[in-house]
Amino acid sequence: MIEDKNQEKTALSSLGEFGLIDHLTKQFTDKNSSTIKGIGDDAAILDFKNKSVVLTTDLLVEGVHFDLSYMPLKHLGYKAVMVNLSDVYAMNANATQITVSIAVSNRFSLEALEAFYEGIHKAAEVYGVDVVGGDTTSSTTGLMISVTALGEVDLETVVKRSGAKANDLLVVSGDLGGAYLGLQVLEREKEVFKVNPNNQPDLDGYTYIIERQLKPEARKDIVKLLKDLEVVPTSMIDVSDGLSSEIIHLCKQSEVGCDLYEDKIPLDPQVISTCEEFNMDSTTVALNGGEDYELLMTISQEDFPKIKANPNLTVIGYMTDSSTGMNLVTRGETKIPITAQGWNAMSSDSES
Ligand code: ADP
Ligand code: MG
Repeated sequence: MIEDKNQEKTALSSLGEFGLIDHLTKQFTDKNSSTIKGIGDDAAILDFKNKSVVLTTDLLVEGVHFDLSYMPLKHLGYKAVMVNLSDVYAMNANATQITVSIAVSNRFSLEALEAFYEGIHKAAEVYGVDVVGGDTTSSTTGLMISVTALGEVDLETVVKRSGAKANDLLVVSGDLGGAYLGLQVLEREKEVFKVNPNNQPDLDGYTYIIERQLKPEARKDIVKLLKDLEVVPTSMIDVSDGLSSEIIHLCKQSEVGCDLYEDKIPLDPQVISTCEEFNMDSTTVALNGGEDYELLMTISQEDFPKIKANPNLTVIGYMTDSSTGMNLVTRGETKIPITAQGWNAMSSDSES
């Protein structure tokens, strides 16, 4: 979808490196008071005053993390930012700045990069972060994208993976499995298109799960909600690789076990119907599918009254002593150990 044959394309070489950087970054204006100097000098200058800073980075590689045959570049730019902001929010922090570095080959046109930066810009606007720098270089083959995100947090409210205690409630935001199923639908349509290029994809009925795959939203709103509810989770992680591997991270780093209830896992109706169609087990998809970018947290039992009526948060289990291990309590009330299959086990050509 990079090539739109009806439109004139501008070669990147016609701008030169500095012209290109200038062209792509002139749309950014800084909004956060912690940004003293953004793009345009040798380094950005930031001042977080009495706040602590969280910093996270991700590298996305074409053919490994994304496929441009169904991922529009605008969405890719947006998603590259979301992946990082999600990690900032998982610390219970407020995201403030990002840098964006790209390695790009001459098979991409200026218009393609403009679309990519449109997505970056949109994400920065919607989430209130400043784009304060990056790097631009050439690549001999595919596109590589590295985004770094910074956020600010008070040390009293920062949340790590390691603070869960036995009897804490295991809570997840939103619903799970959608992004993985969206990818399955897109992969299927890609195969159909290969056989018959005139075949228009029929994606009605899959809009929610496709959006979960192509345009995920990081849960900034959940960080705000927790603040409003005056709940500081005891541990937290974002769901990028699938529920089971994130639960294992929390349990291992907190040195606790857990009981996860199969019947409590939140699933969108479209996830359930698509699982039926693909003959997949929805629990397996929620446990091992990736890229949902929800927040998984543990909260103390005494905070339960504050969250129990909230439609954005679902209690899916509770933490136990480490000696009882990590278990899935099935609908049939049998306990089976949770293992980390993660993304790789379900899809040989994708990993996150
Ligand atoms: P340097 O030679 O010091 O690396 P550059 O010419 O690469 O500087 O970058 C000039 C300015 O533009 C810097 O502020 C840099 O952070 C910013 N910048 C470069 N590439 C990008 C990009 N892809 N996205 C956002 N900002 C960028
Ligand atoms: Mg540079």
